[in-house]
Amino acid sequence: TGLVVAMDGPSGSGKSSVSRGVARALGVRYLDTGAMYRAMTWWMLQQGVDLADPAAIAARCAEPRIESGTDPDGSAIHVDGVDVAGPIRQADVTGAVSAVSAVPEVRARLVALQREIIGGGDIVVEGRDIGTVVWPSATLKVYLTASAEARARRRSAEVTGSTVEAQQAAMATRDKLDSTRKADPLSVADGAIELDTTELTLEEVIAEVLRLVAK
Ligand code: C5P
Repeated sequence: TGLVVAMDGPSGSGKSSVSRGVARALGVRYLDTGAMYRAMTWWMLQQGVDLADPAAIAARCAEPRIESGTDPDGSAIHVDGVDVAGPIRQADVTGAVSAVSAVPEVRARLVALQREIIGGGDIVVEGRDIGTVVWPSATLKVYLTASAEARARRRSAEVTGSTVEAQQAAMATRDKLDSTRKADPLSVADGAIELDTTELTLEEVIAEVLRLVAK
């Protein structure tokens, strides 16, 4: 297998910007696994599936065709041929995604899709369980962290019409759900390098990851 960089961490840790930057610098592909969980969630909301009912989610999760691009300069994501790159970033999806991603049947299906895409490698993959579950044999595993305040500040810079405080509260709820669920909770993989990005610029984090890849 070619190079696989696994980039895990909580929301707002800088995973997306760092992963894209590293993929670009190395001239390899980039996969945003969070976008796949968001796409599944968008479809469930469209279908009116009761998201308080894990059995209902499990029963339907094999239906949507989810296709993810791997261009670090794009964010192509389609569900049954519909471009959902915009809608999956909306607050309704963000608020519901943890409930959907906690369902083991959802994870089994998306992990299988992710492994197919990773295939021969030459890719940077970001998510919550890449180093622990999706690709434990990754060339390099990075676990990005940042203070809760720094993470909320970064997120609110991306999302308009929301205060830092509101962002911080919503993010804390989502991170708690993501790290306490039974199925593949967010955790630091064996052999992962932890990188605290609170005091670092994006360029500095990318440079550090590139240094680790070259080692
Ligand atoms: O990375 P992003 O914030 O877009 O991820 C959205 C959600 O998808 C996370 O809050 C988490 O519930 C779920 N997720 C996951 N496993 C991954 C990637 C994302 O459970 N590998």
